[in-house]
Amino acid sequence: MSYPTRTGQYMRPTSSPPTPTNFSFSVPIPPPTRSPPTSSRAQLPKTKPPFSKHPAFDNPEADLILRTADKVPFRVFRRILIESSDIFRDLFSIPPPPSSPSTASSSDGPAVPVLDIPEPARLMNDFLLCIYPLPSPRYTSIEELVPMFDLARKYASQHVVDLLRSQLVSPEIMRKTVALRVYALACKEDLEYEKRIAAAACLEIDIDKAALYMEALWPEELKNWSALDLTRLIRLRDTRFELAAELVRGLEGKGVCTVGTCRHDFQADYFPEFQEAALLELRKCPTSKVVFSHTFVTSCLNKTAASCFSCAREYLATSGMILSHLKRRIDMLPDNVLEVGRASEER
Ligand SMILES: [Zn+2]
Repeated sequence: MSYPTRTGQYMRPTSSPPTPTNFSFSVPIPPPTRSPPTSSRAQLPKTKPPFSKHPAFDNPEADLILRTADKVPFRVFRRILIESSDIFRDLFSIPPPPSSPSTASSSDGPAVPVLDIPEPARLMNDFLLCIYPLPSPRYTSIEELVPMFDLARKYASQHVVDLLRSQLVSPEIMRKTVALRVYALACKEDLEYEKRIAAAACLEIDIDKAALYMEALWPEELKNWSALDLTRLIRLRDTRFELAAELVRGLEGKGVCTVGTCRHDFQADYFPEFQEAALLELRKCPTSKVVFSHTFVTSCLNKTAASCFSCAREYLATSGMILSHLKRRIDMLPDNVLEVGRASEER
C-alpha cells in the first residue's frame, strides 16, 4: 500500500535529551484497519516467534498513527504517549507545522496525523504495551531487555525503565544469564540497586573468565559502561577475598579420628589441605558457595592420606561446627559494590 503524502519535518527543541530521528508528520491517513499487515513478519529473524500487534493499537478512535520502520501502523492516543515519554511530551507541546493536516478530514472521518518512527513494529508494540494500561511484556532473556532499555532511554520514558529494571534482576534472568552481563547492563543504564544485586552475583563466578566470554560472544555489551564500574567490581572481589583469606588462614581445628586405633590428627593434616584449596577457590569466587559444599570438603579429604575409611566422616562430624561458623562469617563479608565505590571517593 502507498499513500500520497505531504510531510512536515519536526525540529525538536535543542534543550531536550536524546533525539528520536526521522520524525515526520504525513498525510493523508490510511483508513483504520483491524488486521495487522503481514509485511513485518517476513523480516523477522527465524528464531523469534511470529510478531502480532496488540489489537488495542488498531483503535479507530485513536488520534495519532505511529508508523514503524517496517510500515506497520499503530493507532494510538497522544495523551498516553505524552504522559509516559518526555520525548513525546516535547514533541506534542509544539503546534504542528503549517503544512500539517491535523485538521484535515476525509470521507472516512476526521484525519489522523501519521508520525513515522525508525523503530521496528515488534519493539514499538512492546514499548506501547509498557505504557498502556495493558499487561506489560514479560522477558526471559537479557537479549530481549537490551533493545527495550535502548528504546526507553531514547524516548526518555522513566516508566518503561522502571518496568524493565524489575525484570533485569528477576530470578529467571539471573539464573539463565552470566552475572557479568547483568552487571554490565545495570551499569550502562545506571541502575544502582540492580548494579548491587548483579555485583553480588558476580562474586560467585570467575569474573576474569566471564569477561573473556563476553568479549567473544557479546562484545557489544562490554561497550558503553565505565571502566570505573569494572574496577569497583574487581576491587569488591579482591577486598572480599583478602577478608575471607584472613578468616580461612585463622582456621583452627581440633579433633582426631576415634574409629578403632586410627587417632588421625585433623589439625595436622586435613585443615591445611582445606585451607590451601579454599584459598585458591576464594581467590576466584570469594563466597561460601563452593568451598563449603560437601563435594569440595570431601575432595580435600580425599587428597590427604586417610588413615582409615572412616576418617572423612569423623572429620566432618568433629569439624562441622567450626566450618559452619567460618561459613557464616564469610557470608557476612561485604558484598556491596556501591559501598566499595563510595569508600574510595571519601578518601
Ligand atoms: Zn580414621
